[in-house]
Amino acid sequence: MSALSHGGPTLPQERRLVTEIPGPLSRELFERRNAVVANGVSTTLPVFVTQAGGGVVVDVDGNSLIDFGSGIAVTSVGNSAEAVVNRAGEQLRRFTHTCFMVTPYESYVAVCEQLAELTPGDHPKKSALFNSGAEAVENAVKIARSYTKRQAVVVFDHGYHGRTNLTMALTAKNMPYKDGFGPFAPEVYRMPMAYPFHWPTGPENCAEEAAAQVISQIEKQVGATNVAAVVIEPIQGEGGFIEPPLGFLPRIAEFCTANGIVFIADEIQTGFCRTGDWFAVEHEGVVPDLITTAKGLAGGLPLAGVTGRAEIMDAAHAGGLGGTYGGNPVACAGALGAIETMRGQDLPAAARRIGEIMLPRLNKMAARFPQIGDVRGRGAMIAVELVKPGTKEPDAALTGQIAKACHAQGVIVLTCGTYGNVLRFLPPLVIGEDLLTEGLDVIEGAFEQLTAA
Ligand SMILES: *Cc1c(COP(=O)(O)O)cnc(C)c1O
Repeated sequence: MSALSHGGPTLPQERRLVTEIPGPLSRELFERRNAVVANGVSTTLPVFVTQAGGGVVVDVDGNSLIDFGSGIAVTSVGNSAEAVVNRAGEQLRRFTHTCFMVTPYESYVAVCEQLAELTPGDHPKKSALFNSGAEAVENAVKIARSYTKRQAVVVFDHGYHGRTNLTMALTAKNMPYKDGFGPFAPEVYRMPMAYPFHWPTGPENCAEEAAAQVISQIEKQVGATNVAAVVIEPIQGEGGFIEPPLGFLPRIAEFCTANGIVFIADEIQTGFCRTGDWFAVEHEGVVPDLITTAKGLAGGLPLAGVTGRAEIMDAAHAGGLGGTYGGNPVACAGALGAIETMRGQDLPAAARRIGEIMLPRLNKMAARFPQIGDVRGRGAMIAVELVKPGTKEPDAALTGQIAKACHAQGVIVLTCGTYGNVLRFLPPLVIGEDLLTEGLDVIEGAFEQLTAA
């Protein structure tokens, strides 16, 4: 079989446009899609994919696009990475499902061993596996409530934790995640987030003032002894790639420890090498009680986990956790392949390298285009926040236009942010340096074209 008949690392690593984007075959498929797929399921870039690997995605019309999205921070090891394909493929041929709760298999245990080893802290750890990030977050809250015998859950402005009922309640942003979908789960309390770019007294005061506000609000409005868990993304994802300044996370974690509150780091987007460490909390030496993982964990196969202190994880009674598909054997095999790839290719270092290339280049662009108000991020989780020049007023319209212009030129970029004014970049960690630079050239070209600089 020719290399071209498959995706994966053998796919030619190039941007190649042979039609307009989307091309005629994609447009035809999009019409079919619109007739039968619910409107609520949206599309960022309507090209229909036939192959993907390394740093590129190939569509039905034969266009090869540079991937700065990784299917939302999932394919960190690249699409169809060799070790993922080999292990999952082999598992597919042996058996596809037994249900781990009925008759178990080794790969589930092996994934939990890896999670225990790789997550921060040297205390005894246990894990439970699920299918999606939202399911992991829901279960982390169940476990924390069971352990503490308390009910309240504290979350943050701009936070995103999923689309199920409890995780919609935990999520900050109304449109599109929550609007019209209530009533939401009770006992969820939202606190201010340390958002340096928008902190009223300036970024230098942000960590300390935000932590003080959070702690005071928990004490005065909820009561620390009522709080089962604090759930926080160490760098917020959908909410705008908001990186709290140094000191904020450790202060919140300490407060949790002092008050018997389970500190849950939602590392679903940040985890598994994305930010240049295996987990983003490592940057400040924070050791969470529980960590939720999903996206980057299994090289594109659906798998999620809750990992944490054994005594907390064991608080839920037998039969209280699980699910028919949770920790599916093919997904577990994929995860073992993805983790093998991350270790073997030192993908934390690859993520740091991506940041070292992207951040200076984007900072240069910020000096040139006053519409770029902020450049931020760590490792290969990088964003620019777009504003009306000379202000901090969000410019969501320009953000959308820039993203569209990049798409038209064959670069997949995503937007995010409470105000819809953040362009975010999440390239696969195995992307080549030439593609990374070419993608940045296209982004700069889009700013040139749309800001008339
Ligand atoms: C994507 C995401 C989730 C939800 O994961 P799903 O697999 O889409 O359910 C939860 N938390 C964070 C931080 C995420 O980025």
